[in-house]
Amino acid sequence: MNEEQHGNNAEHFDVVIVGAGISGIAAAHDLAQQCPDQSFVVLEAQENFGGTWWVHRYPGARSDSDLYTYGYRFKPWTRPPIATGEEIQGYLWEVIQDGGLEPHIRYRHSVRSASWSSAANTWTLEVARGTDNTTMRVTCKFLWMCQGYYKHGKGYTPRWPNMEAFKGRVVHPQTWPEDLDCTDKRVVVIGSGATAATLIPAMAGKCRELTMLQRSPTYFTVGRNEVPLADQLRELNIDENWIHEIVRRKLSRDRETLTLRAREKPEQFKQDLLDGIKAQLGEDFDVDTHFSPRYRPWTQRIAFDPDGGLFRAFREGKASVVTDEIERFTKSGIQPVSGKTLEAEIIVTATGFHLSVMGDIPFDVDGKPVDFAKTVAYRGMAFTGVPNMVWVFGYFRASWTLRVHLINDFVCGLLKHMKQTGAKRFEPVLRPEDDAMPLRPWMDSDDFNPGYLARSLHLMPRLGTKPEWRISQDYTIEKEEFAAIDFSDPVFAYARE
Ligand SMILES: Cc1cc2nc3c(=O)[nH]c(=O)nc-3n(C[C@H](O)[C@H](O)[C@H](O)COP(=O)(O)OP(=O)(O)OC[C@H]3O[C@@H](n4cnc5c(N)ncnc54)[C@H](O)[C@@H]3O)c2cc1C
Repeated sequence: MNEEQHGNNAEHFDVVIVGAGISGIAAAHDLAQQCPDQSFVVLEAQENFGGTWWVHRYPGARSDSDLYTYGYRFKPWTRPPIATGEEIQGYLWEVIQDGGLEPHIRYRHSVRSASWSSAANTWTLEVARGTDNTTMRVTCKFLWMCQGYYKHGKGYTPRWPNMEAFKGRVVHPQTWPEDLDCTDKRVVVIGSGATAATLIPAMAGKCRELTMLQRSPTYFTVGRNEVPLADQLRELNIDENWIHEIVRRKLSRDRETLTLRAREKPEQFKQDLLDGIKAQLGEDFDVDTHFSPRYRPWTQRIAFDPDGGLFRAFREGKASVVTDEIERFTKSGIQPVSGKTLEAEIIVTATGFHLSVMGDIPFDVDGKPVDFAKTVAYRGMAFTGVPNMVWVFGYFRASWTLRVHLINDFVCGLLKHMKQTGAKRFEPVLRPEDDAMPLRPWMDSDDFNPGYLARSLHLMPRLGTKPEWRISQDYTIEKEEFAAIDFSDPVFAYARE
């Protein structure tokens, strides 16, 4: 449907940003700074900003990355590097206020469909507004999708036999009930990823029994929640902007060095990780069973235990770990395949997300539905056959936000180029020399394979083998590649009409 079909009641902007999470707020900030002549609005389905940090409000919710790299390049982070969800919300709020972004954000505006008209060179969005879901239309020349990568309404909970028999409560951390009281209860947390590792220290000591039940172990590192270099620079009264940039570069490089080591010497790397855990738990703890994963280090995110809270809980007997398959639920808990029943009043399923491609919003181009799985992604952000649109998808291993700024600079550069050349339409195209290029899934499962991606990889756009059609997951490489993008390259097709 285009604007004419909708009548004239649509509100029009140059740019619509979908989502007011950390990506959408960054997009709004960078657009306002770099392209002040572009009118824009941020449409956000929830009643508040923050995205992930607004949705995930379970006990202890915090970042896994340091905020020097997960925070924005333009706003210094001055607190301990691993931040609580509340601290991140506070940081984002300051960015919204300082950047004068508040008037641009519309809360409770959920985009329900997106239609491109080549006749009008315009996107028309159907938007459900307010608590009563009144429908309205918004049109724009450029659509900036910052809606994240998972379904916000509901987390992923596998089905286990006999679940309905359980008499207690089953909760997913993504939809943590405000009234849930774990005091003196027996709680089983299923899963051992970053979420479980956050929940366990936050609940340890309050529950009667707290068990982390995992099918298979996760890699962990333990360290102080501090960056000594940042503290030293502060003692020298160095300007916070400088500290932010210096520490950001240092931590980015440290992470890349680690990734390289994990790839080149996986056995040694694994042994070092296990030695770190043994130092936490002592020689008598069965580290090989519970903390020695089957996968190669770095094919999934390595979970961080700031200040050792998780391992302290195990060491002090305030939590225990069971590594086993679930055979079935019982009335009073969980029956693992090989062990005794785990009694529980509360079962927390820290089992991850449902991947969502483009927020599950139906897209069409000139009336033809878009199947993103059939598109090819230019640097993982723009899609063949889909004009004037980008999707912000950050890094998996490094901080998400590092890639967000690269994409933002691309979009702002593109909008300026289109304005200068009078182009109304842009889309990436496979060039003749790309004809023989093999197409590959969004993620090479041998390189990185978290469950939520593996379950839905078939829905994701495809990538190629050339740098333009890949996501390297390496910030240093991409930083140079993005800076060298030539908007006149034949990989971009433009139309003036
Ligand atoms: C608990 C948790 C901890 C994490 N920790 C880290 C970490 O430490 N480091 C890291 O790099 N990554 C981390 N991640 C990954 C994290 O999701 C990303 O870092 C980042 O928050 C994604 O930001 P985003 O703005 O792109 O998407 P989101 O945070 O998902 O925000 C998207 C926003 O878009 C809105 N939206 C969606 N669909 C629509 C629609 N149709 N209409 C209007 N609005 C819509 C949503 O309501 C939401 O507010 C973590 C993820 C989780 C769940």
